[in-house]
Amino acid sequence: MSDAGKTTGTYFTNAGSGNMERTASFRKLGDYPLYTTVGLAVSDYLAAWRSDTNRLAILVALFLLASLYAARIHYRAWRHQQEFNATLLRQEALYHELVEDTPMLVARYRPDTTITFANAACAEFFGVAPGGLEGRRWLDFIPEEAERAAARERIAALTPDRPASSSVQHRVLGKDGQTHWTQWTDRAFFDVSGALTHLQSVGEDISERRRVRNIQAARLRLMEYAADHTLKELLVATLDEAGAPTESPIGFYHFLEADQKTLALQAWSTRTSREYCKAAGEGRHYDIDEAGVWVEAIRQRRPVIHNDYAALPDKHGLPPGHAVVLREMVVPVFRKGLIVAILGVGNKVTPYTENDLQTVAQLADLAWDFAEGKRLEAELVESATTDFLTGLFNRRNCMARMDLELARLKRFDIPRAAVLMLDLDHFKRVNDDYGHAIGDAVLKHFAALLGAELRKIDTGGRLGGEEFVILLVGADLAAAEVFAERLRKKVADTPLVHEGRPIPVTVSIGIAALETSDASTEVTLMHADAALYDAKHSGRNRVCVRKR
Ligand code: GH3
Ligand code: MG
Ligand code: MG
Repeated sequence: MSDAGKTTGTYFTNAGSGNMERTASFRKLGDYPLYTTVGLAVSDYLAAWRSDTNRLAILVALFLLASLYAARIHYRAWRHQQEFNATLLRQEALYHELVEDTPMLVARYRPDTTITFANAACAEFFGVAPGGLEGRRWLDFIPEEAERAAARERIAALTPDRPASSSVQHRVLGKDGQTHWTQWTDRAFFDVSGALTHLQSVGEDISERRRVRNIQAARLRLMEYAADHTLKELLVATLDEAGAPTESPIGFYHFLEADQKTLALQAWSTRTSREYCKAAGEGRHYDIDEAGVWVEAIRQRRPVIHNDYAALPDKHGLPPGHAVVLREMVVPVFRKGLIVAILGVGNKVTPYTENDLQTVAQLADLAWDFAEGKRLEAELVESATTDFLTGLFNRRNCMARMDLELARLKRFDIPRAAVLMLDLDHFKRVNDDYGHAIGDAVLKHFAALLGAELRKIDTGGRLGGEEFVILLVGADLAAAEVFAERLRKKVADTPLVHEGRPIPVTVSIGIAALETSDASTEVTLMHADAALYDAKHSGRNRVCVRKR
């Protein structure tokens, strides 16, 4: 008891048994020198507090751990969100670029076809500023009622089960009111209740592709057609081919002569002849100065489009019965720097386009090649069968025709055809006296007299030099002699007149019948030649008949 005098107190000690830390409290009991002392080991009385504290510490630690964990989760979620947002932005930019940079035409619209979005290609195609299509009606860009109706039906047929249409082709009104062929796939979007919310169309301009394909097909068709049709028929077919893709009821093809002024009307399209033009002057030649504005393509030496014909100044007016022209497009065909032909089309419902021009230009060119081909073919046939100087059949053609006639006679056994051999008398003298050129003129003159005497079924030809042959079909020797005598007299009586001077010439003629017993026409010709020999030797300018 160190604190003398105190009646109560508490102290801390580690004296006593076990050297254990204790807290001791004492209290003086009344006035007695008695103290009660209670000692309590520190470890004992702190035990509960310590246990609470430990629990608390654990809880705090756990709480801290949980908070840290939650914070970490939150942080990661936030990071994810950030990344997600960035990805979303990147993707949106990517899709925006994809949609805006694609050459495909992309448009979204409501069920009533009011456009809510159109990409840059689409705006450009329709000739409006970006955003300029929004609010306009998609269907209004389809000019053909039938195609508009088909589009409406297509939209109506889209269901949540079949939300996309297969690709379709139709015309649309693009920039500057020009019609383009386009190809589209439509897709519909529905809400959860299955109601149509909007539509999306993705398409492209296929006009050029279509044109090239059409031209190739037309070329093939025309080439096939050319094989067994005349040039005139071929030109009409070409005009019909040009009229179809350009939707032109009027079509015409003219050849232009080398003077670049004289037009020959060659052909009208089938529709033009049928529906429009009663003024057709086939093969008529006239000066381009007489013609209307449609020959401007020749004057300007380039293709010309008049989309508003009525507004044109100085139209020459059209001949009576001529079609009423609303618009027209005329394309010249050039060869070696000269215009050789023009192809014109007219009265398309919508304005003519560059695309139409390409189509018509290619077909015009093709038509000229066909015309050239036909002309060459005809020339070849003619040069192979015709004598150049006189225009009569040549020797080969005469022989072939006689062979044919002989074969026919043998088949039907009716020996009635006569062969006449003709030779101009003393023709050497004509050349000697007047010169070779006059000699040629006399030969042509004689050929004309001969040709005039022939019927369509007869053959007259030049065997060579001043020797000619005639095959009279169905004629016996007597009839042939009458014919020969008439010709002989006509030749003697009708001299060529050169510079006011007559150049007399006579002809000797030998006749033989074409007989079924003749092994070949060479044999018949030999007999006719023998008769001719007789005519020459009995004084010339006469007819002799070979009797067998
Ligand atoms: P004839 O028949 O009466 O006995 O006497 P000819 O003088 O006609 O006899 P010949 O057959 O000997 O002479 C034919 C002449 O015709 C020879 C040649 O100068 C001439 N001749 C042949 N072909 C042509 C031609 O294409 N043009 C011209 N100008 N003369 C020709
Ligand atoms: Mg002769
Ligand atoms: Mg002669």
